[in-house]
Amino acid sequence: MQSAVWLVVMGCALAMGWQPALGQQAADSHGVVVGNIDPAVKPGDDFFRYCNGGWLKNMEIPADRGSVGVFLTLRDKSDQRVKGLVEEAVKANAAAGTDTRKIADFYKSFMDEAGIEAKGLAPLEPHLKEIEAIKDKKALAFALGKTLRADVDALNNTNFHTANLFGLWVAPGFNDSEHYAAYLMQGGLQLPDREYYTGQSGRMKNLRTAYQAHVAAMLKLAGFPDAEARAAKIVALEHAIAEKHLTLAENENVHNANNPWKRTEFAAKAPGLDWAEYFRGAGLEKQESFIVWQPGAFAGESALVASEPLETWKDLLAYHVIEAYGAVLPKAIADEKFAFFGKTLQGTTEQRPRWARAVTTVNLWLGDAVGQMYAKQYFPPESKARVEKMVANIEEAFRNRIDALTWMDPATKAEAKEKLKTLYVGIGYTEHWQNYSAYEIKPDDIFGNLRRGSLFVYQNQVARLGKQVDREEWTMTPQTVNAVNLPLQNALSFPAAILEPPFFDAKAADAFNYGAIGSVIGHEVSHTFDTEGAAFDSKGRVRNWWTPADLAHFEASTQKLAEQYDTYKPFPDLAVNGKQTLAENIADVAGIAASYDAYHAALGGKTPAEQAGFSGDQQFFLAYGQTRAGKAREGSLRQQVMTDPHSPSEYRTDTVRNIDAWYPAFGVKEGEKLYLSPAERVRIW
Ligand SMILES: [Zn+2]
Repeated sequence: MQSAVWLVVMGCALAMGWQPALGQQAADSHGVVVGNIDPAVKPGDDFFRYCNGGWLKNMEIPADRGSVGVFLTLRDKSDQRVKGLVEEAVKANAAAGTDTRKIADFYKSFMDEAGIEAKGLAPLEPHLKEIEAIKDKKALAFALGKTLRADVDALNNTNFHTANLFGLWVAPGFNDSEHYAAYLMQGGLQLPDREYYTGQSGRMKNLRTAYQAHVAAMLKLAGFPDAEARAAKIVALEHAIAEKHLTLAENENVHNANNPWKRTEFAAKAPGLDWAEYFRGAGLEKQESFIVWQPGAFAGESALVASEPLETWKDLLAYHVIEAYGAVLPKAIADEKFAFFGKTLQGTTEQRPRWARAVTTVNLWLGDAVGQMYAKQYFPPESKARVEKMVANIEEAFRNRIDALTWMDPATKAEAKEKLKTLYVGIGYTEHWQNYSAYEIKPDDIFGNLRRGSLFVYQNQVARLGKQVDREEWTMTPQTVNAVNLPLQNALSFPAAILEPPFFDAKAADAFNYGAIGSVIGHEVSHTFDTEGAAFDSKGRVRNWWTPADLAHFEASTQKLAEQYDTYKPFPDLAVNGKQTLAENIADVAGIAASYDAYHAALGGKTPAEQAGFSGDQQFFLAYGQTRAGKAREGSLRQQVMTDPHSPSEYRTDTVRNIDAWYPAFGVKEGEKLYLSPAERVRIW
C-alpha cells in the first residue's frame, strides 16, 4: 500500500513539473523519476544519494518492515495484485479440486484466526507426541530423516538455510547435467547463519541472550516444564552445530561442493548418525548417490547426534516444530515468534497485516496456480516482445566484448560464445506450470495445509531424482520480484513482477529501460561467465572451461573488485565482505557495461531525446541508480552485510565508478569521492 502510493505520488510530481510544456500527456511520468534526485549532491561524490536523495528524504521505513526499497515497493504491488486475484478466487466458489478452489481454501485457512485460536495446541500435539516417543538414537535418526525437506537451493535462488538437520536440493547433477541429482546441505540452526552463534560482538552476544529467552518462552507456551533449562541445552546444541558449519563465502565456492557420496558411504564418512534409518525416514533408502555440499559439516553434525544426549535432541526437534508452525499457532505463540524474529532480530516494530502474510504463504505453496492468473492479467505480449529484443541486444553486446578481449584464449572464447548461444532466457513466466492435483487443501486447517505443502514439494522433488532435466524449468513464479540465473541449466528467468517500473516501462525510452532492467539482464548474463559460471559449461556440466592463464587473469582483475568493496563500511565496526559479495559485484559491473553497449547499439548513432534536460547517457545511469533506491534498519542492514551475497544498495549504485562512460556523462573529476583513475577501474569483460 505504502509503496503503491509512492509510485503514484512520484509519477505525478514529475508529470506536474512538465505540465506547462507538455500538457496532459501521460507519457510524462515515464522514465527517470526527477523528483527522486537530490541535485545538491555531486554525482561524483555520492552517486547513490544523487540518484535517490529525494526518495531517501521522503521515504519512511514502514513499522512492519526491516527495510524499504524498490524491491519492496514492487513486492507490495505484486502482493496487492495477488490479493485481488485471491479475492476473486474466493468469490468464484469454484469446484472442489480446482486450482481456484485450492487458492481460496488456503487463503481462508490462513485468515481464520478464530479457528486457529479455538484449536489451540491441538494441531501440534501429534507431532510433539511422536517426538516424545523417540526411545533411542536409532528412532532419533529416523525422526531426523522425516524432517528432511526440499528447502535449500545452492545455486539458483541461493538459500543455504534450513532449520532441519539437513536440507535437500534436487537439481541437474554436477557430474551428469542431463539428469536430476540429490544434493544434501548442512542445516540445524534457527538463527540465520553460523555467525549468529559464534560472533563475539556485543550485539551478537545480546542477540544470543534474547534468543535463549525466546526458545524458553516458546517451550513454555507449548506446555513444556523446565523451559529455561531445556532452552539452554537447545541453544548450546545449535551452537555446537554452528561450529561445524561452513561460512557463507565457503558455501558459495562450487569447487568445494562437488562431493559425490554413495548412500552406503555415509556411515564411514560421517559416523555417528544411523544413516540407514535417516534415509529410511526421509524416504530415500533407494537413492544410490548424493552430492554432499559440506562434507565437514556432515561429519560434524553426524558426530553430534552420537555424542549429545537423546533428551537434548528431542527437545531441539520439539522446539523446531513449534517454531516451524509458530506463525499459524495461537496468537500468544505467533506473537512471541514475531517478537524475536521480527522485532529483536530484524528491528521491525510491527507485524505485517494478516492478509499480506496470507498472500506470501499462498505464493509459497500455490505459487504457480496464482502465477498463471497473474501472467494472464498483468504481463501483455507487447512487453514480452520488447524485453526479448533487449535480451538479444545485450547478448550481442557480450559477444562483441568477448571477441574484443585480448587476454582470453580462443578456446575459452569459443566456449563462452557457445554458452551465450545455448542460454535459455525466460521472460515473464514459465511455459511448464506445476500441477497441484495431489496437494490436498482444507479451508479450516492452515497447519495441515502447510505441512502437506512442504511434503508435496518434497515428494515432487524426490520423484524427479534421476529423471531427464527440463532446461526450460523455472524456479520462480511470475509474481516474484527478482531475476535469477540457473547455472546448471544454462538458463535465466525474469519474472513478470520485476518487469515493471522502475525496472521496465513499455512506455519509457530505451535509455531508461537499458539502464534499469537492461543492467539487471546484463547482471544475470554475466553470472554465466563469472566465478560461478566459469565452472559450468554450455550444457550446464561442471567443467572448468577456462585455461589456467585465463582464470589467473580473471581472478586477478576480480581480486581488485573484492578489495574495492572491502573498503566500504556501512558501520564503523562492520565492513562489506568483498569476497562474500564478489560474484554479485562482478555481475553488476559487467551488467551495466554490456547494457550500455546494447543501448548504444539500439540507438544506431541517433541522438536520443533528453528528459528534463538529462542526456541519454545520464538517463541510463540515473535509471540504474534509481533501481537501487533503498534504506534499512540497523539490524536488517547488519544481517544483510553478514549473510547476503549481494552488497547493500548504496555500494551497488556507486559501482558505476568502474564504468568509463559514467565519467563524461556527469563530468566526474579527480578529487571527487568516487573518482577512480582509469587504471583503478575494474574491467571484467
Ligand atoms: Zn546476481
